[in-house]
Amino acid sequence: MVLNGRIAIVTGASRGIGRAIAKNLAQKGAGVVINFASNAGAAAETAQEITDAGGKVLTFQANVEKSDEAAALVKAAVAEFGRVDILVNNAGVTRDNLIFHMKDEDWDRVLGVSLKGAFNCTRSVARGMLKNRYGRIINISSVVGLIGNSGQANYCAAKAGLIGFTKAMARELGSRNITVNAVAPGFISTEMTAGLPENVKETMLSQIPLKRFGGPEEVAELVAFLASDAAGYITGQTIAVDGGMTGV
Ligand code: NAP
Repeated sequence: MVLNGRIAIVTGASRGIGRAIAKNLAQKGAGVVINFASNAGAAAETAQEITDAGGKVLTFQANVEKSDEAAALVKAAVAEFGRVDILVNNAGVTRDNLIFHMKDEDWDRVLGVSLKGAFNCTRSVARGMLKNRYGRIINISSVVGLIGNSGQANYCAAKAGLIGFTKAMARELGSRNITVNAVAPGFISTEMTAGLPENVKETMLSQIPLKRFGGPEEVAELVAFLASDAAGYITGQTIAVDGGMTGV
């Protein structure tokens, strides 16, 4: 169990990619804090699946957009498990629209959850990691943060911002054995993508060399590797899990 004894916080772990990440980290031996915003039922399901498999888990509601709630999340994790070794900034939302129809609140919300949320959680967790001289921070970006996408100016800006944030944190925290990396998923089958119109899905599929959408577990495997000791010399990177969409 490569993560035996490690303690991880996964934001937005009630559903989708976050749930798969939390389960995978727990399977590999980490104690996991499952954060969610409002869907307590889904968070409880994730927690149950982990405890049924023999894992240790704490469920904690916090809107990561709010700095005091992010701080409370980290405090609860430390109170329960003693420290935090791994932070996965996964929480994210979409509010898609073309630029002329995009409302201020759609811009603020998407940037708030993905980018400010990652800032809030990282700031709260970094002090303890610096003291412990150990940390793994993984930010869930997106391929659209690399290549852009029409109708997603807010989301693309947030996800590209996360890549810059990742590089800055890698430089700032590296001397204390804290690595900071970004994972950029392509099209992954979750509730976030389930509602997209069929013609949009078909267009996306035509751009993916592997000719299929990804599963949340396929993102989770990379996150677990980056969270492990084996990835100790990898920092400041953005790695795509996208079926080849951006790589060829
Ligand atoms: P999802 O199924 O919609 O799940 C989103 C998760 O984020 C839920 O657990 C939700 O909690 C949580 N969340 C939302 N707002 C939050 C807030 N303010 N504070 C804390 N948690 C919050 O999304 P997903 O597809 O798994 O995506 C997960 C991450 O991967 C996101 O950052 C997304 O941008 C990124 N991503 C996804 C894809 C894809 O194709 N699916 C591709 C690239 C990148 P509740 O359940 O409580 O609402």
